[in-house]
Amino acid sequence: MKRHLAFFSLISPMLTGIFAFFALFLLSPNPDSIYARSEDIFRRDELLMGTVVSIQIVHSDSKTASGLIDRTFSIMKEMVNRMDAHREDSEVSLLNREGAKRPVRVSKELFDVISLALKVSKISDGAFDITVGPLIKLWPVYKRSGFTIPDPSLVQKTLQKVGWQYILLNPQKQTVMFTKEGVSIDLGGIAKGYIVDRAVEFLKSQGVNGALVNAGGDIYALGTAPQGKPWRIGIQHPRDPRKLIAVLELRDLGVVTSGDYERYVIKNGIRYTHIIDPRTGFTVRETASVSVVGKPAAFIDALATAVMVEGAEKGMSLLESLPSVEALIITQDKKNPSELLYTCTPGFLDYTVWRAFSDPKRQ
Ligand code: ADP
Ligand code: MG
Repeated sequence: MKRHLAFFSLISPMLTGIFAFFALFLLSPNPDSIYARSEDIFRRDELLMGTVVSIQIVHSDSKTASGLIDRTFSIMKEMVNRMDAHREDSEVSLLNREGAKRPVRVSKELFDVISLALKVSKISDGAFDITVGPLIKLWPVYKRSGFTIPDPSLVQKTLQKVGWQYILLNPQKQTVMFTKEGVSIDLGGIAKGYIVDRAVEFLKSQGVNGALVNAGGDIYALGTAPQGKPWRIGIQHPRDPRKLIAVLELRDLGVVTSGDYERYVIKNGIRYTHIIDPRTGFTVRETASVSVVGKPAAFIDALATAVMVEGAEKGMSLLESLPSVEALIITQDKKNPSELLYTCTPGFLDYTVWRAFSDPKRQ
C-alpha cells in the first residue's frame, strides 16, 4: 500500500520550552563520569568522532555497569580508529592510499560498512556516496572563517573523482578496490551509525536488555528504560537548539537525525552545509533536517544523509520503497526560507508522544 505524504506547517506551542528543558536534562554531557540517574540507569558521556557519545544502561549493579560501559567505549574507539579517514594510520586511510593500485583486503567490519554504503547508494540513485571526500574538501564549512565558494570548473573537475560505481568489492576475498585513480572513501555519513550498532551488539551479548546509545544524534534504543517503559528521545528543532520538534518513544529501534544546523557557514544569506550532492558537487539546500526511525543504525544513518540530499519529494518516494523505516523531513520553504515545512511518513507519527507540528490527520 502506498503511503500518503503529509505536509503541514509549524505551530510553535509554549510546551516546547518545557520539553526542551526536559531534553537538555536528559542529554546534557557529563564527560568522563559515571553516575546513577535513578536507581538503575548508569550513564557516561565521552568525546568521540568530534561529538559527545553517551551510553546509558539499565543495570542493577553499578560496578558491573561501569565495566560494561568501559568495554563498550573501547569497542567504539577501536572502530573509530579503523574508520577515520583523517587518521593516517587508520584502515580507511590505508585503503585510500592503496585501493586504486590493488585490491586491498580489509576487516570484516570495514567490508560490511562499505557494502551497506553501496546498497544505500544504489537505492538512493547516488544521493548517498562515500566517495564524496574530494568534494567535501572543496567546501570547508568547518573552517568558519576563510570559507570561499569554489569555482564551478573546479567542482566539475573534482566530480571526476567521485562515484560509488568505482568501488569494487570481492566478498569471497573480502577485498576492496577503486577502479579509478583519485577515488577515495569518507565514511562520515555512515560510521557513527555503524559504531552505535557495534556498541549495541556488544551490550546485548553481555545480557544487557535496556540501553540507550547516542552518538551525537545517531541513537539506538535497546530494549526498555527502567520499569519496562520505552525510551523517550527528543528531536531537536533545526533552527533553535533550545527547542524540540518532537518526542519519540522507541524500543529496539534506532533514530538518526541529519541536519544542516551543526556544521555550516552562512555567506551572503545562503547556508552552506556539510552535506553534498555527489551528483552536482554542490552543498545541500532547503533540507533543514531529516530524522529516520528504523534499524540498523548504520542503515538509517546513511539513509538520513541520502534524504537530506534528495529533499522532501524524492526523499519521500525513496522512503516509500522501504517499509521498515519511518521518517520526518523538515525543509525550508522555497519562497520564504525562514518558514519550515514538515513532511513525514504516517508511521512516524505512531512513535511521537509529543510534537511541535500539527497533526496531518486533522487537516
Ligand atoms: P552528521 O555528521 O551531522 O551526523 P551525516 O550523517 O549526514 O551528518 O554525515 C555527514 C557527513 O557525511 C559529512 O561530514 C561528510 O563526511 C559525509 N557526506 C557528506 N555528503 C555526503 C553524501 N552525499 N553521501 C555520503 N556521505 C556524505
Ligand atoms: Mg548520515
